[in-house]
Amino acid sequence: MADIDATHGTGTPPDDAVPAGGVPAGGVPAGGVPVDALRAAENGATSPAGPPAFDGDHPPSADLVSDCVHCGFCLTTCPTYVLWGEEMDSPRGRIHLIGQGLSGEPLSDSMVTHFDRCLGCMACVTACPSGVRYDRLIEDTRAQVERRHPRGPRDRALRAAIFALFPYPRRLRLLRGPLRAYRMTGLKNLMDRSGLLNRLAPTLATLDSLAPRLRSVPKPPARVHARGDRRALVGMLTGCVQSAFFPDVNSATVRILAAEGCEVLIPPSQGCCGALSVHNGRRAEAQRFARNLIDTFERTGMDYFVVNAAGCGSSLKEYDELLADDPRYAERAATFTAKVRDLSELLVELGPVARRHPLPMTVAYHDACHLGHAQGVRAQPRALLAGIPDLTVRPIREAEICCGSAGVWNVLNPAPAAELGDRKAKAVLDTGAELLVTANPGCLMQVAAGIRRQGGSIALAHTAQVLDASIRNLGTEALLES
Ligand code: SF4
Ligand code: SF4
Repeated sequence: MADIDATHGTGTPPDDAVPAGGVPAGGVPAGGVPVDALRAAENGATSPAGPPAFDGDHPPSADLVSDCVHCGFCLTTCPTYVLWGEEMDSPRGRIHLIGQGLSGEPLSDSMVTHFDRCLGCMACVTACPSGVRYDRLIEDTRAQVERRHPRGPRDRALRAAIFALFPYPRRLRLLRGPLRAYRMTGLKNLMDRSGLLNRLAPTLATLDSLAPRLRSVPKPPARVHARGDRRALVGMLTGCVQSAFFPDVNSATVRILAAEGCEVLIPPSQGCCGALSVHNGRRAEAQRFARNLIDTFERTGMDYFVVNAAGCGSSLKEYDELLADDPRYAERAATFTAKVRDLSELLVELGPVARRHPLPMTVAYHDACHLGHAQGVRAQPRALLAGIPDLTVRPIREAEICCGSAGVWNVLNPAPAAELGDRKAKAVLDTGAELLVTANPGCLMQVAAGIRRQGGSIALAHTAQVLDASIRNLGTEALLES
């Protein structure tokens, strides 16, 4: 594990938070809700203060809450605790609040604020020696919050805009022209007066600025044959942000798979995988996306389903849990889930057949949280990079701490996201590497924005693009100029 610098950031702590390790409002020590009370509330007990925080539709599990022994090992890997040093903005504090909700407390605005501030990075899951399933707890909590907590009109409008846009690649593509105008003209000044566009447009404009010019990356064909003997039949997710802003990453992925003996199936009718929805408590919407994707791919007879975006991969690997209660889909979802692989996992599993050519350069590899923490995929991307002659990989300090992208967290929480982005950008620049490599479009965007704010510069690439450049013998220029 890399050294953790738990120096707190400069963000303003919330009014209702309590000092680290202290006693929150209500006088109950962190994590100290009795298990019996939690179970009673799970069975429908109510509080005189109002309806309990959670209803009976998949409440967070009291047993999982009681697994937390309050040791605090997770605290220094939690980005919000690192920023503010507040117990209620730590994993342990949030688990305590979930426990309070389960013991019958109503869902207060303050509780929701602390849940909303969680990035869902799952660094706490990696750090926890007791194996607490915080991922399950926060996902079930968020679904309850979205169904039961009335949000203000501004928050509702922003969330509605996000979820009407990000899961739809065609809509994202259509926006790219206006986004360019936004960046290059005085439109930005006009938009600054509009709260909603002011929140959405900078993120989208940064995405557009990082993406290759619209010139031209053709859409991948529906089927690409393996080069040489076929070793596997592979379905491929093109993704929403990935296909709209980083189509070069998808093209590189297809070429690598074909070079490694995979026949690749890319049905153009595939939609969003539902990752953004499920990570933000919109479970019914996520289930609709999941059913559609299963319908699209299960008839192909694929051996594997490959994903090159970390956030998508982590939710695809949980389709079995997402659809467990659906009698028509539960078994099919389990079959589908068993075939899901991150690109790096599949390539390591199959073993290389395509020749790697030298890339004499130094790169910094950034673990996307949803690949490292959520999927435990850390060794495979490094093994692929290590297989490229003359390529040196440098570690990034504080690798465990999220860059602040976290799906749409940076749109919903721009100020702390920028602080985390700057912190990560400094760590990346300090490596002295020529190229930053990662496996998630959101991380690329977030870290690049931080590096620009620092006045620095570094080339960016997805792991697939590095491997593709090596297999095709393109030399380092292809990566450093992109
Ligand atoms: S998921 Fe990340 S932000 Fe949320 S509590 Fe865990 S470490 Fe903190
Ligand atoms: S490390 Fe695990 S057991 Fe310890 S406080 Fe954090 S969540 Fe609870």
